[in-house]
Amino acid sequence: MLEIKNLHARIEDGAEILKGINLEIKPGEVHAIMGPNGAGKSTLSSVIAGKEEYEVTDGEILFEGDNIIEDAPEERAHKGIFLSFQYPVEIPGVSVTNFIKAAMNENRKANGLEDMPAKEMLSLIREKSELLEIKKDFLSRSLNEGFSGGEKKRNEIFQMMMLNPKLAILDETDSGLDIDALRIVSDGVNKFRNEGNAVLLITHYQRLLNHIQPDFVHVLADGKIIKTGDKSLALELEEKGYDWLLK
Ligand code: ADP
Ligand code: MG
Ligand code: MG
Repeated sequence: MLEIKNLHARIEDGAEILKGINLEIKPGEVHAIMGPNGAGKSTLSSVIAGKEEYEVTDGEILFEGDNIIEDAPEERAHKGIFLSFQYPVEIPGVSVTNFIKAAMNENRKANGLEDMPAKEMLSLIREKSELLEIKKDFLSRSLNEGFSGGEKKRNEIFQMMMLNPKLAILDETDSGLDIDALRIVSDGVNKFRNEGNAVLLITHYQRLLNHIQPDFVHVLADGKIIKTGDKSLALELEEKGYDWLLK
C-alpha cells in the first residue's frame, strides 16, 4: 500500500530532518513509529500527508504504486490517506455532523461520486457513532469549540471511521493523551483496522501499544529508522529507553 524509499526531506530552505527513510506498509498491517523527541516522527507523517512546509529532496513515496510526492494534500486525502489533525481548528456554527457530511461528500466528488443520499449518510453516522460510544449531543456541537482533549480525540477517530481511509496516520504527541484519550484512540484503531486498510501510529507512548497490537514497531532517531521489530521491541523500549539504541 505504502512504500517509502530513501526519503530525504527538510523544512523549506532549512536543515535536513528526514535522512533516508525506508518503510513498507501492506494492507492489514499496523505499524508503530516510536522515538525520542525531535527525531522527525511528526515530520514523517506531515511529509506523507503532503504538508507544504516540507520539501522532499530525495527518494520516493509510493501509494498503491504511484509516486505521490507531487500530489497536493487534498489529492492524497482523496486517494485514501488520512492524517489526524494535531491542532484541530475550531469552526463555530459548524457542527461535528455537518463538517463530516461536507468532508465525505467532498471526498466522493473528487472520486467522481454523487453526494451520499441523506438517509444513507445518517445511518452511517449512527453506526459509527454507536461503535465509538459517541452521544447524540456531541454530534450537534460546534466543531472543536471548547472540546476537551478526549473530545478532540473522539472527533478525530470519528472522522477517521467515517472517511474510512486506506491508510490512517495517527500522530499522537506527548500532550493530551490522558487515560480517556488513550482508550478512545486504542478502541478506535482496533475497531477501524481490517484486512484491507493500514494504520501508521506515531507515538511516544509504550502504553498505547499495550492496547493496540502493532505488527511492526520502528524506532526513528535523527531522521532514520534505526531499528525495526515486533511488539516486543516496544516492551524492550519501555524497560530500557532509547539510549542503548542510539549508541
Ligand atoms: P518528533 O515528532 O519526532 O518529536 P519533529 O518531526 O516534530 O520530531 O521534529 C524533528 C526536528 O525538526 C526537530 O528538531 C524540529 O525542531 C525540527 N522541525 C520540524 N518541523 C519544523 C518546522 N516547521 N520548522 C522548524 N523546525 C522544524
Ligand atoms: Mg515533537
Ligand atoms: Mg511529534
